[in-house]
Amino acid sequence: MSIKQKKQKNPTSKKSTSKAQKVEKKKVNKRRSVKIKKRTSTTTKKTSRAKKKYKATSYLGEENFLANIKSYKLKKTEKYMNVSQKKHFVAILEIWKNLLMAEQDLTADKLQKNAPNFPDEADRATHEEGFTLELKTRERERRLLNKIDSSLEAIKDNIYGYCNSCGIEIGIRRLEARPTATRCIDCKTLEEIHERQQYG
Ligand SMILES: [Zn+2]
Repeated sequence: MSIKQKKQKNPTSKKSTSKAQKVEKKKVNKRRSVKIKKRTSTTTKKTSRAKKKYKATSYLGEENFLANIKSYKLKKTEKYMNVSQKKHFVAILEIWKNLLMAEQDLTADKLQKNAPNFPDEADRATHEEGFTLELKTRERERRLLNKIDSSLEAIKDNIYGYCNSCGIEIGIRRLEARPTATRCIDCKTLEEIHERQQYG
């Protein structure tokens, strides 16, 4: 550190700092903050652009995917599950399906590569834990893929978006939050209890 810098840090010598120096310092700080701001904004732009494309590499799980679904703009006189609504959900389901299939390939690779022989028991236990988790994730994704396929079939059969149990409209917003939903919110409560028991 130079003597000049030391002097500025010392509170007693602060008064001796000239006005011109202070102004210069402020200018530098301002310039620096503008630079940082610019850099941050370009990074955010890049991220959101990638999200829009739903790149296979950017799949961050079910919750994240669903949170990034662009909601459908409803017109006042629109009929429930008309052609454009169907198209909207086919697009969502197909993108989701592709992402999950890419994810499954990655997991398969991981499971194949990860078969080392650990001499230490603790290491082995940790590895096995990770392996079990990997398998669980794979199984969960496989179930989800089946649900997505069923939903795509249901769209073709014109039964998508209606409750399997009571027959009422499930609703666009609920379907966007859960595109594979087969029941209305009321009937779903029971199914969710059942699912929780299944997946632990
Ligand atoms: Zn229902």
